[in-house]
Amino acid sequence: MKVLAKTHAKQGIWMSEENYPECGHNDVIIKIRKTAICGTDMHIYNWDDWAQKTIPVPMTVGHEFVGEIAQIGEEVTGFTIGDRVSGEGHITCGQCRNCRAGRRHLCRQTQGVGVNRTGAFAEYVAIPASNAFKIPSNISDDLAAIFDPFGNATHTALSFDLVGEDVLITGAGPIGAMAAAIAKHSGARNVVITDINDYRLELARKMGATRTVNVEKESLRDIMTELGMLEGFDVGLEMSGNGMAFQSLLECMNHGGKVAMLGIPNKDTNVDWNQIIFKGLVIKGIYGREMYETWYKMVAMLQSGLDLSPIITHQYSIEEFQQGFDAMASGQSGKVILNWC
Ligand code: NAD
Ligand code: ZN
Repeated sequence: MKVLAKTHAKQGIWMSEENYPECGHNDVIIKIRKTAICGTDMHIYNWDDWAQKTIPVPMTVGHEFVGEIAQIGEEVTGFTIGDRVSGEGHITCGQCRNCRAGRRHLCRQTQGVGVNRTGAFAEYVAIPASNAFKIPSNISDDLAAIFDPFGNATHTALSFDLVGEDVLITGAGPIGAMAAAIAKHSGARNVVITDINDYRLELARKMGATRTVNVEKESLRDIMTELGMLEGFDVGLEMSGNGMAFQSLLECMNHGGKVAMLGIPNKDTNVDWNQIIFKGLVIKGIYGREMYETWYKMVAMLQSGLDLSPIITHQYSIEEFQQGFDAMASGQSGKVILNWC
């Protein structure tokens, strides 16, 4: 079968051939319809330090997908051939305390599809049946293909009560822009989002942010005055991975504010602990999606009118994968979809 794989230890990604996957007793095999390119795939594409340390070569990458059940393992119940599914890309051990307590997103031994094990940029992928998630018929294939990053946005944004709150999101990448839409949908008052990329800020505005701020051109403090926010933000969502963005977020939080951190800062990022201590901030780290609360929330929000459609800005056939990766690298994109059929 056809796969998109890291076949050389250098920048790039290549079409290649692999065997049809084996279907374990507890697995399902999914025939892929659509995949989306994640920031993680760009790290792998660029072959940066993290990728060199983490990704075996050769390896089929990709973890954002929608498809249909093509084969069902002997022990699996609850699925029928042809069911339309997306999948949770974090495969957890099932044995540790957190897994056994139903907190699978906190598993200590998580394996990532397309990172630590063979991925979904393929005609077929095998995952444990418990990781497959059926998609209701009134949700499009395009949106189903991005449930993984939509889930990151959902898990982060819904970490704290947003009703009537003023929310600051730092970073208007695809996940930050989706978080803006979720915050607005969930009843936040002001949803202010920052970036240094005007294309992405415009996308976040279309998604429902009440005010976008290019921090290279405007000051967040001035915007707070303009909005009559004298005390500071109630909830902060860090979605840039940028240390300066995190610092300005801390400075703009109200006392007692709550901060959820998804963005991955580099390891020498400085934190001004005084902001956290004297303001009594609550900080929560976010990894992946809650299994499977986040998935049910995503479905419910789409079915209750959340509109994420502007986030999908590019569509290519799988043969045009290079254009898809170029669009992602340009910074002038939201989500980029690669169509397998
Ligand atoms: P992305 O790289 O597309 O978006 C980050 C955005 O931050 C970019 O648009 C960039 O221009 C912007 N930015 C850069 N400097 C800034 C500054 N000073 N102020 C404000 N914005 C600034 O990433 P994404 O795919 O949207 O993901 C968001 C973050 O979440 C990334 O750091 C990613 O690595 C991380 N992530 C974490 C998890 C997790 O489980 N914790 C999962 C997925 C992604
Ligand atoms: Zn576990």
